[in-house]
Amino acid sequence: MKSFRFRERVKMAGEGVLDIPHMAMLRDQTPEELKESFERTWGCSLAGVVLPVIAPDGLLFKTDDVDIPMSSYAKDNGKIVDISNAIAKFSSLGINIYLMLDPTVHICRTDTLHIVDIVGDGSASICIGNTASQELLGYILGTAIIEAHKATSETTGKLVGVVMDTVDLWPMGASDDRIEMTCFCPSCVSYFEGKVDLSHFRTFPNPWNLLLKDAGSGIEQTGEIRPNSTPANIVGFSRQKGFSDIYGTVENADLIEMASLLHQYVRCRHNQTVTSISNIFKEAFPEDEFFRNVKRILLTEGAYYSWTAGLVLESLDENTSSFDEVWFDPRSADIFLKEMPFRSYMWRRSRYYIDSFLTFAGNVGDKVARTTTGIARLSNAEAKDKLKTRLNQALHTALTEKSALASLPALRQASEKGSQRIGFVGVALDEDVGTKFINGLKIAPGLNDGTGRRPVSEEELGGADGVRQFLEMFGKRKG
Ligand SMILES: [Zn+2]
Repeated sequence: MKSFRFRERVKMAGEGVLDIPHMAMLRDQTPEELKESFERTWGCSLAGVVLPVIAPDGLLFKTDDVDIPMSSYAKDNGKIVDISNAIAKFSSLGINIYLMLDPTVHICRTDTLHIVDIVGDGSASICIGNTASQELLGYILGTAIIEAHKATSETTGKLVGVVMDTVDLWPMGASDDRIEMTCFCPSCVSYFEGKVDLSHFRTFPNPWNLLLKDAGSGIEQTGEIRPNSTPANIVGFSRQKGFSDIYGTVENADLIEMASLLHQYVRCRHNQTVTSISNIFKEAFPEDEFFRNVKRILLTEGAYYSWTAGLVLESLDENTSSFDEVWFDPRSADIFLKEMPFRSYMWRRSRYYIDSFLTFAGNVGDKVARTTTGIARLSNAEAKDKLKTRLNQALHTALTEKSALASLPALRQASEKGSQRIGFVGVALDEDVGTKFINGLKIAPGLNDGTGRRPVSEEELGGADGVRQFLEMFGKRKG
C-alpha cells in the first residue's frame, strides 16, 4: 500500500499537550472526556494538560498574605471541586501536569506595580520589570507549584512544567499614528538608563514607526527583527511596507540612525523580559532536588520579534540555562529554534486572543471594573454581545485541523542540528465550551441599566477622560 507523505507527517506531530485556559472549561467536561476529545481531534495520545494558576477574576490557589481576591472559579460545585482536585484527577489518569501563569494579573489593584505607557498613562496590568512584582508573582507561582506537587505525590502523572504566558506583557495602543508603547514605569525607565536614550522615543515620528503603523482598528505590525538584522535591513523592510512614508523627506542616513536606535530598544526590552521572567522562576521554584526536573517554559508568539511579549524568538536559543522549553504558534515551518526544545502552540498569536476574551470576561464579572472603567456604561446585553465578539475573534484564530500538524517545523532528530521541536499544544476551547462559559458568567451591574437608553458606542466612551486606556485594553484592544 502506498505510504502518503502527508499521513506520515501528521503522525510526526510529537508529544501532545492540552491547554485548559480557564477552570470554567472543567465544569461540563470530565478529565476523561477532555482526554478522549483531544485524542479524537489530533489523532495522538494526551501526554499532559496545562492548568491556570490565576483566573482573570482572582487567584485559584490560596496564597497567604496576598490581597488579591480568590477567583469565583477557585471552588466549584461541578464535577471538579477545586484546582488541586483537578490536578489529582488528571494525574491519576497518567497525564502529566503543567501550570500556566499569566503574570499580567489585571485584578491586582496596587498602582505602583502597574504598567505605564510612554506618555505616562497607567493601566490595570502588572509590570513584571520591577522587583516587587517579581517577588509577588514568584510567591503566587511558588505556592501553586507546591500544591501541584502535593496533589501528584501518589499519582502516575506528575508536575512536569511551569509555563509563563508572555504574549501580552507589554500591551500597546495607538492614536493618530502615535504608537503608545509600554512599559515606562520608573523601574523600566531605570532599566533602560545608560542602554537606550529614551528621548528619541518621546517624540513623533520616532523609531517605532519604522515597523508599527496605526491602522485605525488596530496596530499593523511587522516583527521583522532577527538576531542578525542590520539597521539597513530594518529600513529596507519599512520602505517595502510603506511604513517609512510617515517620515516624509527625512534622509536615508537619519532613517538608518533611527533603525539602529530601534534595534537597541528591542534588544534591551528582550533582555529585560528574559531577566524578569527568570527572576520570577528563581523566586518561585523550591530548592528541593525534585523540582530540577520541572521545566521552566516560555509561551510567546511565533513572530521573529513579538512586540507585546518583548522577545526576539530566535535569540532565546542563547537562554538555555534560564529556560528549558519555549512554546509558540507555528507561523511558518521555517521559524524554529536550534538549541532550545520547543512545542508548536496550535492557535494564531498563541494565547493572545484567548487571553483577550478571558480578561474581558473577567472584567465584565468584576464589580469594580463595571463601575469605574470603559465597560461601566455597557448594558448587560451589550457586554454579553462584546464577549461573543471576543469569543468569535478567538475561535477564528484556532489551528485545529490535522492538516496544520503537517506544516509544523520538523521534529527534533538525535542526529541532526536542526529544529528542536518536541511536540505541540492544543487548546480546550471551542464554540460550545465558549458559549457555555459566557452563558454561565455572572455579569456585574454596570452604570447602564439597559432600560431604553441607546447603546453607547466605543468612540463616545473613548472621548471620556480616564476611560480611553481601558478601551485600548478591553474595548478595542490593539496589537
Ligand atoms: Zn514597567
